Amino acid sequence: MKRSKKILICGGGIAGPACAWWLTKYGFSVVVVEKATAFRDGGQNVDVKGAGQQVINLMGLTEQIEARNTLECGQKWLDAAGEVVAVFPKGGFGTLTSDFEILRGDFARVLFDATRSTCEYRFGTSVVGMEEREDDVCATFADGSTEEFELVICADGLSSSTRDLALAQETRLRYLGAYMAFFKIPRRPEDDFWACSVNGIGGTMINLRPGGPTETTVLITFLANEPDPKRPSTVSRRDMLRAALEGRGTVADRIVGELGAVQDFYFGPMSQVQASTWSKGRLVLLGDAAHCPTPFTGKGTALALVGAYVLAGEIKKCSTHTKAFQTYESILRPYAERSQQELSPRLIRLMHVKTRFGISVARIVQRFFGSALIQSLLKPSTAAKARKIDEDFALPVY
Ligand SMILES: Cc1cc2nc3c(=O)[nH]c(=O)nc-3n(C[C@H](O)[C@H](O)[C@H](O)COP(=O)(O)OP(=O)(O)OC[C@H]3O[C@@H](n4cnc5c(N)ncnc54)[C@H](O)[C@@H]3O)c2cc1C
Repeated sequence: MKRSKKILICGGGIAGPACAWWLTKYGFSVVVVEKATAFRDGGQNVDVKGAGQQVINLMGLTEQIEARNTLECGQKWLDAAGEVVAVFPKGGFGTLTSDFEILRGDFARVLFDATRSTCEYRFGTSVVGMEEREDDVCATFADGSTEEFELVICADGLSSSTRDLALAQETRLRYLGAYMAFFKIPRRPEDDFWACSVNGIGGTMINLRPGGPTETTVLITFLANEPDPKRPSTVSRRDMLRAALEGRGTVADRIVGELGAVQDFYFGPMSQVQASTWSKGRLVLLGDAAHCPTPFTGKGTALALVGAYVLAGEIKKCSTHTKAFQTYESILRPYAERSQQELSPRLIRLMHVKTRFGISVARIVQRFFGSALIQSLLKPSTAAKARKIDEDFALPVY
């Protein structure tokens, strides 16, 4: 495509800066607008597997990412009193821990630093209107100013408002039956480098993970009815979380005790983005805005990186934006949909055990699969599964 006008990227999270990196490498001028007033370094442990890892390699960022590895050495299942039930070491069967464990904020920082001198970042603003014309798009910003762009890339996450300007009818959020909250609490001397998971009675699951020298990250998910946008809840988010943690044992009590002082509190329904098309005219969706699989799949970041690579590559390669967007979607959609299909409301219900009996069964299963004998027997199939993830998506060459 010609490089006459600037490309606008809405969203300075993971997908936006990654796409900016590739587009500027190909000679395009890029403006990234981010709604937050400054770079957002929030978030928890994200893992980058398979094709996402290959994109990091191609960008030459592997060393920088590895230097920020959280050093998590595996996953322990605890009972409500904090006693270890079963241990799943990194590299073994059934563990949460992958090779590339990094805090989302650290990862976003690496991408931001790698692009801040090659493209223009504008913080504290967003696009509130768009007019598509024959040769460009005229974007209206929150302060009322307008500007012309060749293309608009919506990389503003799960609740993308720029997507809603053009593709609201084509998009739906698929609620998976649970809420999730993530935030950080102060690290305690007893916090080690293991992810600690607790499955409490009543459908609440807690994960504590290493979050750097002074912090421990917390991810809590719990079963709940779908929120009704017409009847906003009168219960505050923190009170809703407190109710889900009440009486769930010592790990839960620790979190309730810290909740009042938590700063970077994220809370929301666990939903996937399902869009029947990813583009309209000169506007295209990227990352979570197109196909959020939810943090529970562990695929959102890898998908964002791969999508950024493919979209930028097709924009470079194709003669028109229409062709570029169509090819990008046809290459990426099957991969994104496979990732989303790994989760269903049924699976989420199964994972969030509600009864004492269910917890007892879960403990038996955890002890069985965590035993040294079963771990060693399953080692070959775990290695084969890891290879399969690597082969899950063949990166096109641009
Ligand atoms: C603060 C934060 C913490 C997160 N923590 C985790 C986590 O712990 N675990 C996990 O698996 N995933 C987490 N995610 C989601 C994860 O980053 C994504 O699933 C994945 O990396 C895909 O990235 P993305 O760039 O598409 O979306 P995101 O990373 O969500 O980035 C979207 C960006 O767009 C910005 N934005 C929103 N609306 C607008 C607008 N109208 N105009 C301009 N900019 C806008 C947001 O501020 C954000 O910076 C988090 C996201 C954020 C924003």
